[in-house]
Amino acid sequence: MQASSSRPWTAPDDKVDAVVAHLMDWFRENRRDLPWRNTQDPYRIWVSEIMLQQTQVDRVVDYYRRFLERFPTVRDLAAAEWEEVLDSWRGLGYYNRGRKLLETARAVVRNHDGVFPRSVEDLKALPGIGPYTAGAILSFAFNEPVPALDTNGYRILYRLFSTQPLERPKQRGGRWDDLGRRLIPEGRSRGFHSALMDFGSLVCTSRAPLCESCVLQSYCNAYERRDPDLDASATRRTKTVSPPPIPEGKDYVEVAIAIIRDTHGKILLSRRQPGKHLEGKWEFPGGKREPGESWRACLKRELMEELGVEIAVRPVWKVIHHEYEDRVVGLRFYRCSLLQGTPTACEDQELRWVEPKLLTEYDFPKANEEIVTALSGHKTLQP
Ligand code: SF4
Repeated sequence: MQASSSRPWTAPDDKVDAVVAHLMDWFRENRRDLPWRNTQDPYRIWVSEIMLQQTQVDRVVDYYRRFLERFPTVRDLAAAEWEEVLDSWRGLGYYNRGRKLLETARAVVRNHDGVFPRSVEDLKALPGIGPYTAGAILSFAFNEPVPALDTNGYRILYRLFSTQPLERPKQRGGRWDDLGRRLIPEGRSRGFHSALMDFGSLVCTSRAPLCESCVLQSYCNAYERRDPDLDASATRRTKTVSPPPIPEGKDYVEVAIAIIRDTHGKILLSRRQPGKHLEGKWEFPGGKREPGESWRACLKRELMEELGVEIAVRPVWKVIHHEYEDRVVGLRFYRCSLLQGTPTACEDQELRWVEPKLLTEYDFPKANEEIVTALSGHKTLQP
């Protein structure tokens, strides 16, 4: 059935079916293993949703585990003093979220005998729970076919189905939620929303979406129209940073570097092998760009050769030039996500996942020092 022209989208049934089928296939292969995916307890899901507001997944994982060790049930949380909650929240920022969490836990105990209600209206009546969080609790905990669309979810829907170039978040809710509801496959609300979330984080990202390798490309209105935000991302992606003047007699070497985190936030390091320039030093995986090769293609090739993994590459994060005695290196750092495979030492190099705060204990090449300091939390770098 074709949608009426008054709607901001067109979504014939065959397109909806195809999009959902491809999305769920993609998710089977690329699902992120996150701690809140292994529970159906509405309390634990709610805690994760509040922590994830305005905070990246890899930062939340440790806080989430510690918080639930200290407050394993909504009754434990409701009985706590704010100072105790603050103690577990410190470092996450946006402290008002922590206060609301405590207030809501007390309301759940006081008004619902410690049991989370199972309707959107009752959930929204609790302090600090809006339409998205209510939908997320119902979908992830109870598998109810209720749309739970956050910024990522709406963005994916706009791009796939909008009839005009990017209709912005002011058009949330209403008819977009109707479309979201139609997309939920029967009995699979939980999986569908997890898939949407991972797809928005790994592929259909706000900046520089990975359209060229996207499984939904042939169904995507924004891609077909070459919407400006996709092109703008591409422009930013290819932005050049000129190297400094290269002193006579020195080589100029360009290196693409991947910052990869696991689900605990640890960062992957590898150790330079004997016989190599700077042997024995620790570094982030990556390698030299070949003549005519794009930076992304270089990084993908290097990581497949070195680690046997396929990666998604985000926009360039930082460019650093450093002069050694015999050469000048131009380093481009990219935040990357694993799409397929487990990092394996294909070249017999030593690999290690390291907590960011411990990075400064490792011996890195001089050119990496600024990045190591930033990643270890001793200083913030602007992307
Ligand atoms: Fe998103 Fe690009 Fe895929 Fe469209 S083609 S869904 S914009 S990643």
